[in-house]
Amino acid sequence: MSLHDSPVHSRDDIVEVNPLYARLGVDEVPKNRMPDRPMAADAAYQIVHDELLLDGIARTNLATFVTTWMEPQARTLMDECADKNMIDKDEYPQTAELERRCVRMLGDLWNAPDPIGCSTTGSSEACMLGGLALKRRWQQRTGSSARPNLVMGANVQVVWEKFCNYWDVEARLVPIEGDRFHLDGESAVAHCDENTIGVVAILGSTFDGSYEPVAEIAGALDDFEQRTGSHVPIHVDGASGAMIAPFLDPDLRWDFSLERVASINTSGHKYGLVYPGIGWVVWRDKGTLPEELVFKVDYLGGEQPTFTLNFSRPGSQIAAQYFNFIRLGRDGYHAVQQKCRDIARYLSSALGDMKPFEPLTNGFELPAFAFKLRDDIEAYTVYDVSMRLREHSWIVPAYKFPKNRDDLHVLRIVVRNGFSRDLAELFLRDAQRLVPMLERQSKPFASEDATSFHH
Ligand SMILES: *Cc1c(COP(=O)(O)O)cnc(C)c1O
Repeated sequence: MSLHDSPVHSRDDIVEVNPLYARLGVDEVPKNRMPDRPMAADAAYQIVHDELLLDGIARTNLATFVTTWMEPQARTLMDECADKNMIDKDEYPQTAELERRCVRMLGDLWNAPDPIGCSTTGSSEACMLGGLALKRRWQQRTGSSARPNLVMGANVQVVWEKFCNYWDVEARLVPIEGDRFHLDGESAVAHCDENTIGVVAILGSTFDGSYEPVAEIAGALDDFEQRTGSHVPIHVDGASGAMIAPFLDPDLRWDFSLERVASINTSGHKYGLVYPGIGWVVWRDKGTLPEELVFKVDYLGGEQPTFTLNFSRPGSQIAAQYFNFIRLGRDGYHAVQQKCRDIARYLSSALGDMKPFEPLTNGFELPAFAFKLRDDIEAYTVYDVSMRLREHSWIVPAYKFPKNRDDLHVLRIVVRNGFSRDLAELFLRDAQRLVPMLERQSKPFASEDATSFHH
């Protein structure tokens, strides 16, 4: 009897002993064609649930920057809002109001004089919007028909290469060089010309967790403008760091307090501490977001400006973001992020004390750091380390640096809210245990693409 023919209440003895699994056969899970007949909801649930057991454990995934722990109250709110489409501003005006409050709070946190912005599905969409505004403003400013370019470090997240590809902008990737693993003022300006729509500064780099020096880049672009007359604004890709620096590095100048910073994005689902997917993009004022990119949707008999690539999306993440903002406040965010930074520093220094490992960064900026193997180790590689850690449920990506330093193979650990000191100790125990095992290898085992580089 096939799964779809089986009655929900069977008289078969075995079915009564183990009603669910006695009904399920191996070949009966539909994989390619939608089945003709329905099945019981509990059976369908169990099939999907069981297959997902094979996924990695989100909490021990040290590769991702994306939130894997929220308070139960946030989950409740997210469930309550899962059926509301946030784009229907007229039907769900209070969701729209919470979104506007979040934009104002972020604008204030980043010292914007007159912020305007919106939520997105993540930083990727937010970066697209930031980039589009830069491109349109350049066109307005110059009236040029030349091919525009965008200047950024070779260490940018893949979204910026996508932006350039999709919107026909030349991606001017500034190579890393020696021990300079990200963009600086001098190298940025060296790649700018009259067709540069902007410079992307990353806070911080996904390769090693370091902040790019936004103030230095802004200063160099001030000089460039004086010399050449070309105005080049900055977009700060603060996917992670825009929710770290305001709390932990109050003296760092990186945000709208720098005149040249036109727009900033962040991932609400990274250090904004919300489950995926939400991002934010904020412009310093109306002058930095060209009016013609903004669409008006009906809203309570009036009009609401929107500027997004997506349309329909759940209201859940907006409610959860607002929950976090009022639940934690600035002190709460400070406490959470400081804890993450403390644990990242502790871990990088403890790993550095182990014979094979050498930290490249220390978790002093983003609560994330890269580390490598000592140069004299030949029997195993970072890819072997990653593979062995996986056997203990730890997901730690191994990857190589961009061009010019692609000799450098590293591992990276991202510390997020919920990765406690206790878990850190357990991780160190496991890392310690696998060293003798690796040392017994006669040659490297895992291939370079055994793990992928997660942003
Ligand atoms: C994660 C990340 C992105 C992409 O963000 P999503 O929220 O995953 O879309 C872009 N830039 C940087 C620097 C990132 O760390």
